[in-house]
Amino acid sequence: MVTIADIVTEIAAEMRDVSERGTVASYIPPLAEVSPDKFGIAVVMADGAVHVAGNADEAFSIQSISKVFALTQSLGAVGDQLWLRVGREPSGSAFNSIVQLETEQGIPRNPFINAGAIVLCDVLLGRYEPREAIGQMLRFVRMLAGDDAGSITIDDAVAHAEQDTGFRNMALANYMRAFGNIRAPVERVLGVYFHFCALAMSCRELAMAGRYLMDGGRVDGHSVVTASRARRINALMMSCGHYDNSGDFAFRVGLPGKSGVGGGILSVVPGVASIAVWSPGLNASGNSQLGTLALERLVQRTGWSVFEPR
Ligand code: GLN
Repeated sequence: MVTIADIVTEIAAEMRDVSERGTVASYIPPLAEVSPDKFGIAVVMADGAVHVAGNADEAFSIQSISKVFALTQSLGAVGDQLWLRVGREPSGSAFNSIVQLETEQGIPRNPFINAGAIVLCDVLLGRYEPREAIGQMLRFVRMLAGDDAGSITIDDAVAHAEQDTGFRNMALANYMRAFGNIRAPVERVLGVYFHFCALAMSCRELAMAGRYLMDGGRVDGHSVVTASRARRINALMMSCGHYDNSGDFAFRVGLPGKSGVGGGILSVVPGVASIAVWSPGLNASGNSQLGTLALERLVQRTGWSVFEPR
């Protein structure tokens, strides 16, 4: 019988031979230095078994995947009040798009585009100082991942590079401030946002950190969020987690997933598995080219889908 471990090993081997590897993000300088040859995959099963292959233990910049954790923390801070300031609809636009903010009065379409996540950071700054918000995020993700040794970090070089080059994000934040949907000083909000994006961890750690979304809000039997909140976060990942490519991701993979321009994707099969893949080459929408292909092959071979009975 073919096991999950076999499938994971097989997919990593196949990825070595794929020549269409996408383009590594270059607008954040440190990301441009990562080799497009990298590929890692980690699958954490509901029973705790972990299957990894390729560069699964190499830390990478999780970038927008951090928006999932920022959403979880913001909901923890203000609950459903959050939805007065951020929408829940797919944008059909690029992750850094500004266009809808004009017609929608500074309310971003969803928490997973840049504008949305910048609002999440502002929400957290309604409760905490920037340092506290950043420290709490790091502790939260380490707790989720069971990273007692503290090997998950925030890469300051990446955060500072984003600060130096993040003109679009500055524009988004200032524009929303004009509508009153950013309340703290823009530099402080973006400082938090860039540090969240600069979280660095491996596929193994990321898949571990996603377990609460696989298991109805629980980690190791302890409730981190309610089951209904976990379900809603998964729903948003499915509808909005890949920007203007979210429909295609749902079509090809059929699982909640969140991508980042570092080339990572976190995806969950509720009740079954938490999966992280990483390969830095991106498709036209800024989602990992090989990461998506690997997930597509994984679901084909396992039958995992939220759209099909098991
Ligand atoms: N830090 C990146 C940015 O703000 C995150 C974008 C992404 O991962 N899609 O542009």
